[in-house]
Amino acid sequence: MLKSPSAQLQYAHAKTKLPAQTSSAFSMTSSTTRYRIGLAANRAHQDAPNSALVQLLQGSHARIEALQPELVVVGRTLDAIGHLGLLPNYPHIERFPYGRQGGLMKLVSRVVDSDPERMLDAIIYLIDPVDPSSTFPEAVALKRQCVIHGKPFLSTLAGAQEWFELEAIAGGAAPDPARDGSFRLADEGIALIAHDSMKTRMLALAERHFEVLDSFGFRCATGTTGGLLNELAVKIKGEAGRNWVKPFLSGPLGGDAQIAELILEHECRRVLFLEDPHVARQHEADIQLLERAARTVTDYASCMSDERWGDRWLSLIRQRQVR
Ligand code: PGA
Repeated sequence: MLKSPSAQLQYAHAKTKLPAQTSSAFSMTSSTTRYRIGLAANRAHQDAPNSALVQLLQGSHARIEALQPELVVVGRTLDAIGHLGLLPNYPHIERFPYGRQGGLMKLVSRVVDSDPERMLDAIIYLIDPVDPSSTFPEAVALKRQCVIHGKPFLSTLAGAQEWFELEAIAGGAAPDPARDGSFRLADEGIALIAHDSMKTRMLALAERHFEVLDSFGFRCATGTTGGLLNELAVKIKGEAGRNWVKPFLSGPLGGDAQIAELILEHECRRVLFLEDPHVARQHEADIQLLERAARTVTDYASCMSDERWGDRWLSLIRQRQVR
């Protein structure tokens, strides 16, 4: 089995101070530290008056201004941004080809690139689950390589909005009160799932972030992961930890589908799924189903699939929570 390099990668680009004049595509100041984000949206999330793209770029406008990310945008998404007037005069935009001319394929290549002038730190790909192009090999590979290389893959409006909010706060911005609702953790649910090779890491993550996970109103998990998490909770909280998470069926026996229903019913907003991208998964369809459920309610739910973003997300959400 290949060994994931994700443990060694450290948001390398984001932490790098960029030189004053690196690329003609961007205008930079000498001490700017900024993320480089790949951005694409399926058609249904582009043009409609209140599309996910519109909501993201208008709702997170102040965050984008604060973070000044370099945006590497696939052709038609950038056309939509232009004709909808969504990022007027924003200087840090690079155009990638249309999807049919390889725009998404090039994003995959930039996710795995180690050159700080080219690598992407995160992907925002607003996926419409009924758009066939969201299942093309390049779309699947984009997510898989994000998981392997430890980069956030944000495929829902809610996930992308939350990323902007939390990263802006990490950079010293004040919380946006309009987002308080989803950070009242006592009213929120979270699903925790780990494939077999990732279970030890899930337990370590849960132990490290036990306090913030404990402040969620509701936790659930697939069967085996849930059993292990409840053992951990008993170790930490004694008897009170016995039913810390609600275990559903094991993933291969349908647990992912049970959690998907909770997402669709707006009873569980966030999924932290430490998946193993290096093995064939006999229940691949169930894994995809769970992600599609989150994308079906794109303005509500999000799925986090890589350990590094999960770890950072838990630290940041602890800071951001509303009690
Ligand atoms: P499990 O399911 O927690 O029951 O192992 C996770 C999975 O493999 O999908």
